[in-house]
Amino acid sequence: MRLAIDLDGVVADFHKGWITRYNDDFNTTIPVDAVTVWDGLHLLTHFESMREFWRWAEGGDRSSIFRGLTTYADAVESLNALSRDHKIVIVTQKPRWAVHDTFAWLSDNRIPTTEVHITHDKAGVSADVYLDDAPHHLVAIRDRRPDAHVVRMVRPWNAPLAGVHDAHSWPEFVEIVKSLAAAR
Ligand SMILES: [Mg+2]
Repeated sequence: MRLAIDLDGVVADFHKGWITRYNDDFNTTIPVDAVTVWDGLHLLTHFESMREFWRWAEGGDRSSIFRGLTTYADAVESLNALSRDHKIVIVTQKPRWAVHDTFAWLSDNRIPTTEVHITHDKAGVSADVYLDDAPHHLVAIRDRRPDAHVVRMVRPWNAPLAGVHDAHSWPEFVEIVKSLAAAR
């Protein structure tokens, strides 16, 4: 099967990454698990808008936030296991300035993929199974890909959706894929 895999919030720990850099830059102590809502990250910071947040996240003279993100527990191991029987298709939305850091990050972390889409139109990429954490992407994919299976990576910033499977961990996602493959 073609497995469409999101990166941030699914494979890469975006919130831990930006909060760690923010605490270093501004001598603050925001907990790395402080994010519990989808919108309004800047409300945890001194930035007055997401526009200001993203300008900082771009990094200036440094690499962007996206270059150094750590991976979630079991993510890479699970992708390697899945890649033996399935095709891993990375489908991620990023700012334009993060494209090269994203390819570098995929390489650094030896993500087992030969197909990468950097797009806001995730449902425009065909797949049998989609794994994402973003509420609006999950809804759009579910509605536009009725023949596909959509899986929510359960995070504090998303909630159950009708017609969408839930995975609470990478091992649980692997089991979901196994059962879907067996039922085909
Ligand atoms: Mg995401």
